[in-house]
Amino acid sequence: MTDFDQFWQAYPRKVGKLAALASWQRKHPALEDVLTALEWQQASVQWRKGYIPHPATYLNQGRWMDVNPAIGDIRSMPCAWCGHPEPRWHSAVECNTRWLAQQKKSAPVAAETA
Ligand SMILES: [Zn+2]
Repeated sequence: MTDFDQFWQAYPRKVGKLAALASWQRKHPALEDVLTALEWQQASVQWRKGYIPHPATYLNQGRWMDVNPAIGDIRSMPCAWCGHPEPRWHSAVECNTRWLAQQKKSAPVAAETA
Protein backbone atom coordinates (compact mmCIF):
# COMPACT_ATOMS: atom_id res chain seq x y z
CA MET A 1 0.00 0.00 0.00
CA THR A 2 1.37 3.42 -0.92
CA ASP A 3 1.54 6.40 1.42
CA PHE A 4 -1.27 7.98 -0.54
CA ASP A 5 -3.43 4.87 -0.11
CA GLN A 6 -2.91 5.05 3.64
CA PHE A 7 -3.82 8.73 3.64
CA TRP A 8 -6.94 8.01 1.60
CA GLN A 9 -7.97 5.24 3.96
CA ALA A 10 -7.53 7.50 7.00
CA TYR A 11 -9.19 10.57 5.50
CA PRO A 12 -12.84 10.88 6.58
CA ARG A 13 -14.16 12.51 3.40
CA LYS A 14 -13.56 10.45 0.29
CA VAL A 15 -14.24 12.81 -2.62
CA GLY A 16 -12.05 13.72 -5.60
CA LYS A 17 -9.51 10.93 -5.31
CA LEU A 18 -7.56 11.75 -8.49
CA ALA A 19 -7.32 15.43 -7.54
CA ALA A 20 -6.14 14.34 -4.09
CA LEU A 21 -3.55 12.02 -5.63
CA ALA A 22 -2.20 14.83 -7.83
CA SER A 23 -1.93 17.10 -4.78
CA TRP A 24 -0.23 14.37 -2.77
CA GLN A 25 2.37 13.88 -5.50
CA ARG A 26 2.94 17.62 -5.73
CA LYS A 27 3.31 18.19 -1.96
CA HIS A 28 4.61 14.73 -0.98
CA PRO A 29 4.07 15.27 2.78
CA ALA A 30 5.46 12.87 5.40
CA LEU A 31 2.73 10.28 5.96
CA GLU A 32 3.34 10.20 9.72
CA ASP A 33 2.83 13.97 10.03
CA VAL A 34 -0.43 13.78 8.08
CA LEU A 35 -1.80 10.86 10.11
CA THR A 36 -0.91 12.61 13.39
CA ALA A 37 -2.67 15.79 12.26
CA LEU A 38 -5.72 13.85 11.04
CA GLU A 39 -6.07 12.22 14.44
CA TRP A 40 -6.66 15.49 16.31
CA GLN A 41 -8.41 17.17 13.38
CA GLN A 42 -11.00 14.40 13.22
CA ALA A 43 -11.62 14.88 16.94
CA SER A 44 -12.13 18.65 16.50
CA VAL A 45 -15.61 20.13 16.82
CA GLN A 46 -15.50 21.49 13.27
CA TRP A 47 -14.79 18.14 11.66
CA ARG A 48 -17.27 16.31 13.85
CA LYS A 49 -19.93 18.74 12.62
CA GLY A 50 -19.01 17.68 9.09
CA TYR A 51 -16.96 20.71 8.04
CA ILE A 52 -14.23 18.58 6.50
CA PRO A 53 -12.22 20.01 3.59
CA HIS A 54 -11.96 18.11 0.31
CA PRO A 55 -8.81 15.97 0.47
CA ALA A 56 -7.19 17.87 -2.42
CA THR A 57 -7.88 21.19 -0.66
CA TYR A 58 -6.50 19.77 2.58
CA LEU A 59 -3.26 18.81 0.83
CA ASN A 60 -2.97 21.96 -1.29
CA GLN A 61 -3.32 24.17 1.79
CA GLY A 62 -0.85 22.11 3.83
CA ARG A 63 -3.47 21.59 6.52
CA TRP A 64 -1.48 18.76 8.12
CA MET A 65 0.85 21.52 9.39
CA ASP A 66 -1.97 23.27 11.26
CA VAL A 67 -1.40 23.74 14.98
CA ASN A 68 -3.94 22.06 17.23
CA PRO A 69 -5.84 25.07 18.70
CA ALA A 70 -6.31 23.10 21.92
CA ILE A 71 -2.56 23.35 22.41
CA GLY A 72 -2.69 27.14 22.64
CA ASP A 73 0.42 29.28 22.72
CA ILE A 74 3.36 26.92 22.44
CA ARG A 75 5.81 29.67 23.33
CA SER A 76 4.68 29.69 26.96
CA MET A 77 7.00 27.89 29.37
CA PRO A 78 6.56 24.95 29.91
CA CYS A 79 4.14 23.93 27.20
CA ALA A 80 0.68 24.49 28.66
CA TRP A 81 -0.76 21.59 26.75
CA CYS A 82 1.66 18.66 26.58
CA GLY A 83 3.97 19.70 29.44
CA HIS A 84 7.12 19.74 27.31
CA PRO A 85 9.82 21.61 29.30
CA GLU A 86 11.25 23.41 26.24
CA PRO A 87 8.20 24.21 24.09
CA ARG A 88 10.15 26.76 22.08
CA TRP A 89 12.06 23.89 20.52
CA HIS A 90 9.32 21.30 20.06
CA SER A 91 7.34 21.00 16.88
CA ALA A 92 3.58 21.15 16.54
CA VAL A 93 3.71 17.51 15.44
CA GLU A 94 5.57 16.49 18.59
CA CYS A 95 3.13 18.45 20.75
CA ASN A 96 0.14 16.84 19.02
CA THR A 97 1.65 13.40 19.53
CA ARG A 98 2.30 14.01 23.23
CA TRP A 99 -1.15 15.54 23.68
CA LEU A 100 -2.83 12.53 22.03
CA ALA A 101 -0.81 10.11 24.18
CA GLN A 102 -1.97 11.95 27.30
CA GLN A 103 -5.59 11.95 26.12
CA LYS A 104 -5.51 8.20 25.60
CA LYS A 105 -3.89 7.62 28.98
CA SER A 106 -6.13 9.88 31.07
CA ALA A 107 -9.58 9.68 29.47
CA PRO A 108 -10.05 6.80 27.01
CA VAL A 109 -13.83 7.28 26.61
CA ALA A 110 -14.37 10.88 27.83
CA ALA A 111 -15.05 12.26 24.35
CA GLU A 112 -18.57 10.85 24.06
CA THR A 113 -19.77 11.36 27.64
CA ALA A 114 -20.10 15.18 27.51
ZN1 LIG B 1 3.49 20.90 23.64
